[in-house]
Amino acid sequence: MISRENPARFAEIVGTVPETLPDAVDAIVRRLDGEQRAWAARPLTGRLAALTWAAGAIESAGPELAVLLARESGKVVGDCRGEIGFAVRFLRWVVEHAPSAYADAEVDDALGRLVTMRKPYGVVAAITPWNAPVILAMLKIGPALAAGNAVVVKPSPLAPLTVTRVVELFGAPIGVVHGGPETGAALVGHDLVRKVAFTGGAAGGRAVAALAGDRLTPSVLELGGNDPAILLDDAPFGDAAMERLVMASFATSGQVCMAAKRLYVPRARLADFVDAYRAAAGRVLTTGDPLAESATTGPVISAAAQRAANALRTGDLHDLGCFDADPDTGYFVRPALVVDPAPSSPLVADEQFAPVVPVLPYDDEESVLAAANAGELGLGASVWSADEERAFAFARRFEAGFTFVNTHNRTGMSLRAPFGGVKRSGWGREYAHEGLAEYAQTCVIHAPAAFRPGTEPSAAGPSAYPLG
Ligand code: NAD
Repeated sequence: MISRENPARFAEIVGTVPETLPDAVDAIVRRLDGEQRAWAARPLTGRLAALTWAAGAIESAGPELAVLLARESGKVVGDCRGEIGFAVRFLRWVVEHAPSAYADAEVDDALGRLVTMRKPYGVVAAITPWNAPVILAMLKIGPALAAGNAVVVKPSPLAPLTVTRVVELFGAPIGVVHGGPETGAALVGHDLVRKVAFTGGAAGGRAVAALAGDRLTPSVLELGGNDPAILLDDAPFGDAAMERLVMASFATSGQVCMAAKRLYVPRARLADFVDAYRAAAGRVLTTGDPLAESATTGPVISAAAQRAANALRTGDLHDLGCFDADPDTGYFVRPALVVDPAPSSPLVADEQFAPVVPVLPYDDEESVLAAANAGELGLGASVWSADEERAFAFARRFEAGFTFVNTHNRTGMSLRAPFGGVKRSGWGREYAHEGLAEYAQTCVIHAPAAFRPGTEPSAAGPSAYPLG
């Protein structure tokens, strides 16, 4: 059994799930492989009707799911409502856009007759982390089911409960397995798994990609980031902008893949920035019980995460916001800004995934861009300026999969924007048409005009086989 405690009150057990041992993983994959054929044989409209029904069921259960998510993950309940609502919106967006993404296309013209089909893979393995467990599972479940696949979800053992409830609300071929790397490996390595979608950290991603690669199973990887936020010399330090920037770093106690994890500020404006940022944190940042509506951020996920975060609290440290929490009974860490740490320190060089953020002064745009682009990760980035044209020109030079202008958060962003990292932050995309395309394979049927009955040439010369 896997039991999950409430990170805000670790004496409280929120729930338990049975661990899925490798034999049980095999049985679930085989069952879903059988169900997948009937699901794929349904017309697309029938599959989408089932997904529309599931979206309604998740929406109806939303308030209860949000509280469960807050209790198991430590995310504040308002953010949990937002996550469930976003998952429902995304599922409905899939239903709206699946017909154009997955429909067959046929042309019959002077070149011949060509049918392009989008076929499901079969069983898709969806391996997800704990920090946004519902939306990160839904980004895989929605498109995979719409395209005609079956799905096996393996949530993180640190937040297995809400995802399990959500999966139960689908009338579709979907199942859940529980456990850590061993269960994940049994799933990824299974003969009948034909596509793997993983979101998580580099170590897990490397293991999953190696196993999938060994089996020649295609995979999508969404990995970690160490996002820079660069404030140009004309960036306004107004209240609203500073409040956005504070929450971009400290929502979910900094445990967000695309949190603003390194702040770069012109050296001449550093002192003004620190004052404005601390004042903004004082207005918007309250660390407390995730179920209290007044809290805007909660604990970190585990005792290990609490120890790691506290180890980063060194140097020119400025505590931030209101701290209304007990770090001895919950995994709470006081949010902090660290001014001008060494660029080689772990707080700057690595993804901290914690409520401790460095601010680094810079002297010129070329050197700050080089610093921002240094390192192996390239998930998100942001540039802040009073001049949108200047910001967009600067943004083009980031090595990042997604760059924000004057914000650093998906809030308010259209679902048409694809998301995913470059460099060692992953491959493949989620959201948007690119995300839908990951779950269908393109197959064609072609009758070239030259070879249609009654039109065959008498012989074909060597140049008739240009592709070898
Ligand atoms: P993690 O890699 O520890 O775990 C992710 C999932 O993979 C879990 O279900 C875990 O049990 C499983 N897993 C781990 N090792 C495995 C293995 N060897 N074989 C099979 N499965 C394995 O990540 P985490 O701590 O849960 O999440 C935090 C990380 O995820 C951060 O680096 C964060 O930036 C990243 N993340 C990325 C995105 C994105 O969209 N790019 C979104 C959220 C989180």
